[in-house]
Amino acid sequence: MSHELKTGGDRGYLRIATEEAFATQEQIDLILKMVKEGRADRGTTSLWTFYGASNDERAQLTTKRLLDLGETRIADMDATGIDIAVLSLTSPGVQAYDDVDTAKRVCVDANDILADACKAYPTRYVGMTSIAPQDPEWSAQEIRRGADLGFRGVMVNSHTHGEYLDNPKFDPIFRALADTGQPLYIHPSPPPDSMIGPMLEAGLDGAVYGFGVDTGLHGLRVITSGIFDRYPDLQMILGHGGEALPYWLFRTNFMHQAGVRSKRYECLKPLKHDLFHYMRNNVIATTSGLAWEPAITMAMNVMGDDRVMYAMDYPYQYIPDEVRTYDNFNISDEAKKKLMQTNAERIFKL
Ligand code: MN
Repeated sequence: MSHELKTGGDRGYLRIATEEAFATQEQIDLILKMVKEGRADRGTTSLWTFYGASNDERAQLTTKRLLDLGETRIADMDATGIDIAVLSLTSPGVQAYDDVDTAKRVCVDANDILADACKAYPTRYVGMTSIAPQDPEWSAQEIRRGADLGFRGVMVNSHTHGEYLDNPKFDPIFRALADTGQPLYIHPSPPPDSMIGPMLEAGLDGAVYGFGVDTGLHGLRVITSGIFDRYPDLQMILGHGGEALPYWLFRTNFMHQAGVRSKRYECLKPLKHDLFHYMRNNVIATTSGLAWEPAITMAMNVMGDDRVMYAMDYPYQYIPDEVRTYDNFNISDEAKKKLMQTNAERIFKL
């Protein structure tokens, strides 16, 4: 142990954790009911059979912590020196539900519960709005209601029944984001049935690998569909070091341009800028689950040190030693303060 973890900025910066999850009992109960009745997709079944119904100690503790927005969570934040948690409804939100009215009802309740928690701990919690993309127009209204409730961003847990946000039917969601000046966070979800087969076969469908593949694809689909040409000020946040997009950017950009020039795909249209531009003007990476200096400094080098933000991914990776790892990073004091505090303050307008 190299140093004690405290809140209050004793290291020269506050720690703002930006991908912190909560759940509601109703949300989990309904997911488990769908799993039990065989109505959930394969990925949701794989994930929630573990977190919601297994005897594994880490799984049970995680679910207990997800449900708490009170003193236990605050005590855990104090113990790890987290000053502010940016909270969102845990994956898959309400996006896995097959009944749209149920999804909307659970979503509204979750947003209200989060708004109450943010009111109870105004200096510790910041909220993001959850939506039910199953109904894009309704989701646009809920984004506007969330902004009125004081939320500072919108959380989408990757695909919704195999559909991605670049589908033109989701445009009302982007319009509402642009109108309210809020960032979009695309968080992982279990990959859809059309993708997950070979991953499940090898036990690699979840956070170990499948999440990153699906969410990186989602982010890239949003970029290459030209959404940032239509909404040039919009900011899209991707966790887990930007879901590997910074690492692959040179090749992705080269092959994207070659693909556009060849007119090989009807869907691949010319963009106003190259992919480097969007990664440096519209995408923010968080460090959730990736407390690893080589990957984080690489993302900073590619995207700029204004575009990488700290996240713990509580309660899934509630590990005090990870916080110390960040404190001990061999980067400048200025870059560390941006990473831990001021980038989040700018992006979420705190
Ligand atoms: Mn997460």
